[in-house]
Amino acid sequence: MGRKIILSSSNKHKIIEIKDILKDMNYEVVSKDDLGYNEFDVVEDGSTLEENAFKKAEELHKLVNGIVIADDTGLFVDALNGDPGVYSARYAGEAVSYKDNNKLLLKNLSGVAAEERTAKFKTIIAVVFEDGKKIMAEGTCSGKIAFEERGENGFGYDSLFIVDGVEKTFAEMTDEEKNRISHRANALLNLKKKLEEINESSGIKR
Ligand code: IMP
Repeated sequence: MGRKIILSSSNKHKIIEIKDILKDMNYEVVSKDDLGYNEFDVVEDGSTLEENAFKKAEELHKLVNGIVIADDTGLFVDALNGDPGVYSARYAGEAVSYKDNNKLLLKNLSGVAAEERTAKFKTIIAVVFEDGKKIMAEGTCSGKIAFEERGENGFGYDSLFIVDGVEKTFAEMTDEEKNRISHRANALLNLKKKLEEINESSGIKR
């Protein structure tokens, strides 16, 4: 096994996606829960995805030995001036369900025509290496917001997000399909590239 990458997340869907995409790299990927930090949490009070992602990574980095990565994702809907954006998790309020958020999104888009319902998911992955060095990777996925929920897979806004070019919602895709094209997949692929560049320039097997 290679060096340890610790994910600053308890979201099982995300953990599966991230492990799957990094599986061919020489890292031992574990979640914070695997290390006994189930209770670890930070208040995501930043005004950008970048701030929140680095906050999650830096706070966990103080507690563990290894490379820490944290992601923060938002859904940005053009007709809503970029909402819910950085507030995607608590769009309908604190401690709400995915269903509540989806309902509010549909309500706020009522009367908005199909061609005006353009949106994108954006993921920022923050990385803090053992020595404190930091890098960041970004990924996006463009689509449109459906008029009603479609599909059973995934989580969050997946059942409302129709992916450009595929014309299915994320919730209508298998995990494999989603993991090939999602915002998080694109961010992870960019992260992989950056890690490879660091390896090459330092001669260190990262
Ligand atoms: P987080 O801060 O990265 O956990 O993401 C914030 C919110 O965005 C989550 O609570 C979900 O509602 C939503 N979200 C994040 N990633 C996805 C995704 O891949 N599909 C659908 N919704 C997502």
